[in-house]
Amino acid sequence: MDNERQQVEITGLVQGVGFRPFVYRLANECKLDGWVANHSGGVRIEVEGDPQIIAKFLRRLAQEKPSHSQIFSIHTKLMPMQGDGGFEIRESTANSQKSTLILPDLAPCDHCLAELADPGNRRHNYPFINCTLCGPRFSIIDTLPYDRANTTMSEFALCEECRKEYTTPSDRRFHAEPNACPQCGPELQLTSREGNTLAVNNEALDSALAAISKGQVVALKGVGGFQLLVDAADGQALEQLRKRKHRPHKPFALLYSSLEAVRRDCQISKLESVLLVSRERPIVLLEAKAEARHRVHSLVAPDSPELGVMLPASPLHQLLTQKYGAPLVATSGNLAEEPICIENNEALERLGKIADCFLIHNRQILRPLDDSVLRVIENRPLMLRRARGFAPLPLVRPQITQENTENNRTYLALGADLKNTVALSRSGWIYSSQHIGDLGNATSVERFDQAIEELTSFQQCEPQTLIHDLHPGYTSHRWAQKKSAAKLGVQHHTAHFFSCMAEHNYVGSALGICWDGTGYDSSGVVRGGEFLHWNGASTVKRIASLRTFPLPGGEKAVREPRRAAAGLLFEISGFVALQHDLLKRCFSRSERRNLVTMLKGEINSPQCSSAGRLFDAVAALLGLSSHISYEGQAAMAIEHSARGIQSPDAYPFDLQRRGNQWQLDWAPSVSALIYDEERSLPQRAAVFHNTLAQMILSVAIEVGESQVFLSGGVFQNKRLTETVAKLLRQNNFTVHCHSLVPPNDGGIALGQVYYAHCMAAAGQPLGG
Ligand SMILES: [Zn+2]
Ligand SMILES: [Zn+2]
Repeated sequence: MDNERQQVEITGLVQGVGFRPFVYRLANECKLDGWVANHSGGVRIEVEGDPQIIAKFLRRLAQEKPSHSQIFSIHTKLMPMQGDGGFEIRESTANSQKSTLILPDLAPCDHCLAELADPGNRRHNYPFINCTLCGPRFSIIDTLPYDRANTTMSEFALCEECRKEYTTPSDRRFHAEPNACPQCGPELQLTSREGNTLAVNNEALDSALAAISKGQVVALKGVGGFQLLVDAADGQALEQLRKRKHRPHKPFALLYSSLEAVRRDCQISKLESVLLVSRERPIVLLEAKAEARHRVHSLVAPDSPELGVMLPASPLHQLLTQKYGAPLVATSGNLAEEPICIENNEALERLGKIADCFLIHNRQILRPLDDSVLRVIENRPLMLRRARGFAPLPLVRPQITQENTENNRTYLALGADLKNTVALSRSGWIYSSQHIGDLGNATSVERFDQAIEELTSFQQCEPQTLIHDLHPGYTSHRWAQKKSAAKLGVQHHTAHFFSCMAEHNYVGSALGICWDGTGYDSSGVVRGGEFLHWNGASTVKRIASLRTFPLPGGEKAVREPRRAAAGLLFEISGFVALQHDLLKRCFSRSERRNLVTMLKGEINSPQCSSAGRLFDAVAALLGLSSHISYEGQAAMAIEHSARGIQSPDAYPFDLQRRGNQWQLDWAPSVSALIYDEERSLPQRAAVFHNTLAQMILSVAIEVGESQVFLSGGVFQNKRLTETVAKLLRQNNFTVHCHSLVPPNDGGIALGQVYYAHCMAAAGQPLGG
């Protein structure tokens, strides 16, 4: 057969992942002539040779591509023969556009780990080793294109050896932008609280470990920000850390050196182990084994049968855990709800009262990236917090924007005020920012501004429409109001519903079950137990909701489940309820008098339909928690309490038609649960979960919509989600849950954008 020449256009995540050297090696192996270069949005290859060999080359290209690359499309076309006489990597010209896809920060690859451990290697024990397959990316990029000059590595001039690696196409560090070695790269330093240098390089690392073993708190400059480290077995150190950090109960994450070490302390499924060792290196929630107590103090995760575990996300973490030889607590370097620190001086200032010393380095972090958190539900990963390792990869490319290029308006969605993320749609893709956090303090709002600024400048676009939550008190809402761009308000639960549809690339009629803590709508009811229906064409309708009950104390009730319990009982039986033993147990006499005043006068006692508050109330009634210090604590207590219990039973409930909506009445269930003397507490907790699943099924049957989407923070509950999904599937519903996108408010921004696209596709007016 005659030789031919083909041009191969590849789009996807193919820049900054060692794709060109890979193509170079493959083409040489196949003895094909031609060249490869970076090109707008991807890579372009021209190959010349035997057509059968070219076909084999293309097959292997897709099969053997570098581990972190993603190919979205490959287009080939025949070209006139050129007779190159060899294969080369061509430099991308200055004005040839580079990809706008930025890679996340990646944990060290096996090659780099082997070099790190090799005493004969010049990077032996060097905490900043990296290559084209691994190392920092998003945390150090200033502007696009992704070149060393545009990263915080620009201030480190490459030494001769590093430069040679960087410029040799066959080298595995060819164009590894953060390439570094002990001669030319970043350095470690240990400082006191006052910022005085105590030690440098390997000595700094050893001294930091010695401090930890003496019970001190060490602030570590990690990949996407500061972390606080203590010995996981040291109760005194943990107590001190909790006190200084103002974090009494919320579990701390643990850092282990290897999968084998994790396996000693936790049950790990196949999927969980895949997630743990994945290059994203998230925190994975795992069930603790009884043996864990030898290495992990109960103060790490008080009252929880689970541990949040991660493996080293960087060579620095690898060295620390390996040398320490026991699990370390690695929690975010911040005070309570503030964002994590990223700069050395900022850390000394903000963490000066928390940490005893600081293990820092001179490579700058440009934006905070918290550790991502996942748990496995329904044998699929479920994202709880999406940040380091995942951001800023685009989330989804909706079918509707691919099919209809008219539907390519640039939307900027501002998310919710809690667990804030922002999202941007451009050229059919939806990009989401990393987890920013709660917009309740000035530092978070700065990070919010920064994330918006970066998302738009990386994507080089000016948003045409701003999308915000309807809550008039939200910082994000007020931010939008100050701008002159067109605006669109999207109701909170509608955004939850559409975030789940977006993830499944679904357009069409569907039932959305959106259960969470709080979502605003104009009725003044604090919503959160909502059933929404979309017919795929017109507006979204609420078709059912949980029965409402008052929340005496309003916002205060969020931290005090006992208040939700009082409201719940008051809704069932009026003022008599306040004499109930269950409430006497958790309120003083004068507090109960106050409750009466509030409930009677309807003062600061908003009505709520929130499933999150219903969980709180039941937790208080079961005596599990009357006060909490972090969101979801009470619901988690019920979930954990039901662990290991198998029961098909459910408590009774009512489903009533009220006007054009259904109302799910939990009152019979709550009464049955309170007076259930036959069952133990864990059994009652399990039956409560079953009851909620039966409630959901009853609505789904009334609605008769086959496609069901579950969203909202309540579906972070593994037991509930799995029970609901199983029951619905047994009844022939198709159930869709979250996976890549958090079911909590971290997914709101995505839902807001997707809603806008769906409404535009359906020809619905978007408002102004
Ligand atoms: Zn590597
Ligand atoms: Zn060097």
